[in-house]
Amino acid sequence: MLDIEERMKKWQKLHYLFTYKDLTGKPKIKTAILTCMDCRIISSVFGVEEPGEVIIIRNAGALLTEDSLRSLLIAIYELDVRIIIVVGHTQCGGCMDPTQMNNLIAKISEKTGRTVQEILPFLNAPNVPAAFRGFIDVRKQVQKTAKTISRHPLFAPLEIKVYAYIYNTTTGELLRSLYETSDLLYE
Ligand SMILES: [Zn+2]
Repeated sequence: MLDIEERMKKWQKLHYLFTYKDLTGKPKIKTAILTCMDCRIISSVFGVEEPGEVIIIRNAGALLTEDSLRSLLIAIYELDVRIIIVVGHTQCGGCMDPTQMNNLIAKISEKTGRTVQEILPFLNAPNVPAAFRGFIDVRKQVQKTAKTISRHPLFAPLEIKVYAYIYNTTTGELLRSLYETSDLLYE
């Protein structure tokens, strides 16, 4: 395993090669990708080769949350984004049934010595499913998220294009999910 201290020393030296000083925070292809935090997903998965091309917003499960909504609003209204691509993936840790969500909060409770009722306010949620927002079918979840974004009252007037994709973590394929801006389709 690579020593993180060694890697950080390398990062500190990267600025000698830096050729992006004229970039602004506005992405060149006017695109924001909402994807999962999973470590198997990196920017090259989307064909991103250089800084300044796209905005990447990440959370567990590639969900539209209060915070990803906030980021998308900034991306659209301040950074001229007009295309949003939602990318979920196979083997996603965000796929959790109620039992798995209960097990997760039980683990947190056990390690922290706090009750479930004491933990939920940290997540600003009234119950365990609302706290972790587990889902069963990643394709349906991605399509639902894309649909919600495309019809969102704060985005709709700007005619934002929204796409849904699934990244296969075992084959490396990035496949379009059958979602179009105004229709919800299933394979
Ligand atoms: Zn994931």
